[in-house]
Amino acid sequence: MTSLTVDHNGLVPPGLCPNCRLRTGFKVRGSDLSTYLWPFARTEHPDVEHQLKYGVRTWLRQVLASCGHCGKTVVLHQLIRFHEDGETGEVLRVSQVWPERLPRELHTSVPNPVRDLFAEGARAEVAEAYRAAGAMYRAAVEELCKDLGAEGSNLASKINDLVKRGVTHEIVEDLHEARLLGNWSLHDGLEFSAEEVADVADLIAEAVHVLYVQPEERRAMRDARKARRDAYAAGNP
Ligand SMILES: [Zn+2]
Repeated sequence: MTSLTVDHNGLVPPGLCPNCRLRTGFKVRGSDLSTYLWPFARTEHPDVEHQLKYGVRTWLRQVLASCGHCGKTVVLHQLIRFHEDGETGEVLRVSQVWPERLPRELHTSVPNPVRDLFAEGARAEVAEAYRAAGAMYRAAVEELCKDLGAEGSNLASKINDLVKRGVTHEIVEDLHEARLLGNWSLHDGLEFSAEEVADVADLIAEAVHVLYVQPEERRAMRDARKARRDAYAAGNP
């Protein structure tokens, strides 16, 4: 549960902008409090009986905000439970209603077994099944180590072995983060916040960008240069 002070201006937790993908602040342009009680918000207006049973201090707030970087609009729904004072409270749940949340994908230059596991984790993440997402992101890292030919008796030693294969210490640290989140999901059954899972997915995406996407881009540029040279040579015998 996220404990936040609810003020009159509305509150949007800082996080990744779904439009520009940058970690940024949001400017609240407007917010509406609704007396509809969750989980009845989508279907019916609560009757007096519901209000007596569940209390009248839980409200749904629609927040219209714009990204501090790209300026595009994000609409969030916050489920808020107000304290007795009616001024402060806790945000119990935040869901993004616009833009529609789509599962993340890795670039096509990433080997398919890694992409598939990551995509499965991403679908779990969108469905807010964060333990499953953590486990699948860990499996994607395991597959990535296999693809890079890492050796070791367990995932931790395989990740460390990547240093010998030209992977930077920074990326190795990031992959350990993903491994730990997955371990805790699988073995300790810990629950994670949306932000923690999103951070790990971003770390994996950054790592594969350096490991697969950039080399692929360089290869494409090299091929294009060669094609230009060949065409020039063919035209100038
Ligand atoms: Zn943005």
